[in-house]
Amino acid sequence: MTVQTRAPLVPFLPDSAPFSPEQRAWLNGFFAGVFSADAPPGATALSAADSAAFLPAPAEEDDAPWHDAAMPIDERMKLAEGKPLARRMMAAMAQQDCGQCGYLCDTYSKAIASGAEPKLNLCAPGGKETVRMLKQLAAELDGAPAPAAEAAAAPKTAPAQGAPGTRENPADVTFLGRFRLNGEGSEKETWHVDFDLEGSGLDYAVGDSFGLFPVNDPDLVAQVLAALHAPADFPIGDSTLEDVLTRDVCLKSPPDTLFTLISYLTGGTRRATAKALAAGGDPDGDAALLDVLAALEKFPGIRPDPEAVIECLEPLQPRLYSISSSPMATPGKLSLTVDTVRYDHAGRTRHGVCSTFLAGRVA
Ligand SMILES: Cc1cc2nc3c(=O)[nH]c(=O)nc-3n(C[C@H](O)[C@H](O)[C@H](O)COP(=O)(O)OP(=O)(O)OC[C@H]3O[C@@H](n4cnc5c(N)ncnc54)[C@H](O)[C@@H]3O)c2cc1C
Repeated sequence: MTVQTRAPLVPFLPDSAPFSPEQRAWLNGFFAGVFSADAPPGATALSAADSAAFLPAPAEEDDAPWHDAAMPIDERMKLAEGKPLARRMMAAMAQQDCGQCGYLCDTYSKAIASGAEPKLNLCAPGGKETVRMLKQLAAELDGAPAPAAEAAAAPKTAPAQGAPGTRENPADVTFLGRFRLNGEGSEKETWHVDFDLEGSGLDYAVGDSFGLFPVNDPDLVAQVLAALHAPADFPIGDSTLEDVLTRDVCLKSPPDTLFTLISYLTGGTRRATAKALAAGGDPDGDAALLDVLAALEKFPGIRPDPEAVIECLEPLQPRLYSISSSPMATPGKLSLTVDTVRYDHAGRTRHGVCSTFLAGRVA
């Protein structure tokens, strides 16, 4: 005669439980160990890494309820709470899938989480709040290998160096000319701009976008040099300060690190203001409209080391434009329709970097 004993009931957390897959795996392993009749004394649950090794890779998550460019970042991050790192990084992006970073929001976040993309500052429309959130999330990566499922889902490498016309390997095209599309006296300033693609190795199809690396306005560069009290030929690596300010760095929104630098050079209330700005605060209600020049002029008299300032600034990013020509109609040529960005703030006209480059400076 045998006695049938009832198998012990082992609690099991369903997928809908409010835990990350790693936490769920650890807890289910723990429950299995503790509630199993055969568990040897002293049995312990597997580590998260060991449990993860036994888990099948989670199915690709298609749902991204935060993928709404109109949703504020704190709401997006709340919706992504408890999700794997790459998903939370995606929620930190601007959700525009604009391609300016060279990826989509989803693939950029996977590339960062897998370690394939080290740059955290490529999401131009996300601005400083995206950079701040990505830096915070990236702290989870430090020293820890990327979770296997995330690494597998990310692109294997950055775009191939060999292919011309990528962000990493831009091609040279020839500027042919431009003409203004608006009538005399119009408030709008829209330009038709033509390029010759011959010899560039570039090709396109209708509906593609064209990415351009602009250069900064020389007048703005001159004003920044004056605010820094630094000579144009101050050496920065193999280049000069003027050249780096013109071609390499973004003179728009000042990064938090610039205010941190300024906080070391000031005292009293000025230091408190710089510290607050570095922490994302807005002590004087003007943070949204400070560009690099306005940030330097807000703290008159400071003489930061020019190289330290350059190290604080973000790289100048390419801008995308929808191609408004067809290769069938104008083979080898490419046209853009560009709306010029200009607006006044605090007694100074601000010029959009790339649109005014195309509207006037490129020749
Ligand atoms: C896929 C894609 C396709 C695009 N296609 C086109 C196109 O065909 N044609 C086109 O013209 N643009 C297009 N754009 C937009 C283009 O990429 C640039 O963003 C645009 O030209 C502005 O760039 P900029 O460098 O001149 O301005 P920036 O120097 O980047 O300045 C723009 C920023 O200035 C600020 N700003 C602007 N106006 C004001 C204001 N009144 N008050 C306060 N702040 C303000 C805002 O922060 C804004 O983000 C496209 C963008 C994408 C993502």
